[in-house]
Amino acid sequence: MDIAEFRKYGHQLVDWIADYYQNVEQYPVKSQVVPGEIFDQLPNEAPKVGESMDDILLDFNQLIMPGITHWQHPNFHAYFPANGSFPSLLAEMLTAALGAQCMIWETSPAAAELEEKVLNWLRDLSGLPKNWHGVIQDTASTATLAAILSAREKASNFNTNRNGINGQRFKVYCSEETHSSIEKAVKIAGIGSNNLVKIPCDNQAAMLPELLENAIESDIANGDQPLIVIAAVGTTGTLGVDPISAIGKLTEKHGVWLHIDAAYAGTAMLLPEYQYMIDGVEMADSYVFNPHKWMFTHFDCTAYFVRDRDALVNTFEILPEYLKTKTEGKVNNYRDWGIPLGRRFRALKLWFVIRHFGVEGIQKTLRGHMLLTNELSERLVSHQNFELITPTVLNTICFRYINDSYSEKDLNKINQEILQRLNDTGGAYLTHTKFSGKYTMRIVIGQTNVNKGHIDKLWDLIQESVKVFNP
Ligand SMILES: *Cc1c(COP(=O)(O)O)cnc(C)c1O
Repeated sequence: MDIAEFRKYGHQLVDWIADYYQNVEQYPVKSQVVPGEIFDQLPNEAPKVGESMDDILLDFNQLIMPGITHWQHPNFHAYFPANGSFPSLLAEMLTAALGAQCMIWETSPAAAELEEKVLNWLRDLSGLPKNWHGVIQDTASTATLAAILSAREKASNFNTNRNGINGQRFKVYCSEETHSSIEKAVKIAGIGSNNLVKIPCDNQAAMLPELLENAIESDIANGDQPLIVIAAVGTTGTLGVDPISAIGKLTEKHGVWLHIDAAYAGTAMLLPEYQYMIDGVEMADSYVFNPHKWMFTHFDCTAYFVRDRDALVNTFEILPEYLKTKTEGKVNNYRDWGIPLGRRFRALKLWFVIRHFGVEGIQKTLRGHMLLTNELSERLVSHQNFELITPTVLNTICFRYINDSYSEKDLNKINQEILQRLNDTGGAYLTHTKFSGKYTMRIVIGQTNVNKGHIDKLWDLIQESVKVFNP
């Protein structure tokens, strides 16, 4: 493809993108294809000779688009959002255009220095200690793995990297409600999922610190070595918030690393009125949140903050001859701050988003989401056929349909069916969790362009989907 052709198709695709956003609400939010439907329409062998861009784009529209779930649809209320915004999208275009691989400072000084600056902004806006350092990771799963590996290296005096785990009996703690990425990281770090201790929670999905204390003390008495506690601020099921301050006192007392997983709810820390949720954060060692979930920044972009930069860098540093540069020690070479060597220029989209919205613009949009959430939550509470499973936190509602004529077992089946019916309408997309044995529908209101009209529509869809179950 030459420059002239690129220019032609580039303009065409920008128009495609603008049309897509203009019409996104006409698509079913959740893709309605059946398993194999896309795969079976694609040829079994790669094309031998190049094909025209027109043909490729035709197939994109006809074969690929039906199999897309529309995460940028304002009635996407499933999981947690992976929202985006136009400034973020434009920055992604430039990042792709530059095609820079930003592994070390020299391979694009602007990428390294912008990353340092923008993460300092986010650190300060989130109320994290001023002397912490930030780095962009691809996902929260990777950041949490980095935290566990750093804790492992610090606790073993950087011995494990050289000799492997050598008889140490490390223990990792999190609550019963924390994210599956923790168990995955514990496996990858060589600690073993049998050494992951899951602490029970109260009825709002927050870890019970007395039980954490008991667990740590009995492990020490047994000759095990408590390594790290991973506290959640905003669990994935129901947005439970672990008591950071109480947990921090325990981890300080026992010299255990404290990592805070605020992957989703961390965006709310940009609002000073929610920073009480991380009271005690100065006792922690590391903190992660995902601008790629709720902060209008396209996936992937995770902000990882650490108190002890050296523990992080000493864990990951590698210095083969071909990577040695004159600037060693003067600048940040982010390849040493995480797992992959190669890095995309992700700071650019964060910079575009923060500058375009302004801090006040971000805060206003987030507060708007909380308002919509509270209004819908109140509608559900005051309706006889709905109940909240946990109190509404931030912009997430956990609820279910209820009716005296059904048993608990029936209700679990019925709520599952309601969710299916609702998603099959294509008008909105919700997902579920189980809490205290109850099938629980979740509504997350965090899409960039969601407004009151979308929530009114959702409320109608919910009432419509339960009608058949009212005797
Ligand atoms: C989404 C989420 C994760 C995983 O995030 P990725 O960036 O997809 O790895 C981890 N913890 C919590 C609490 C989450 O909500």
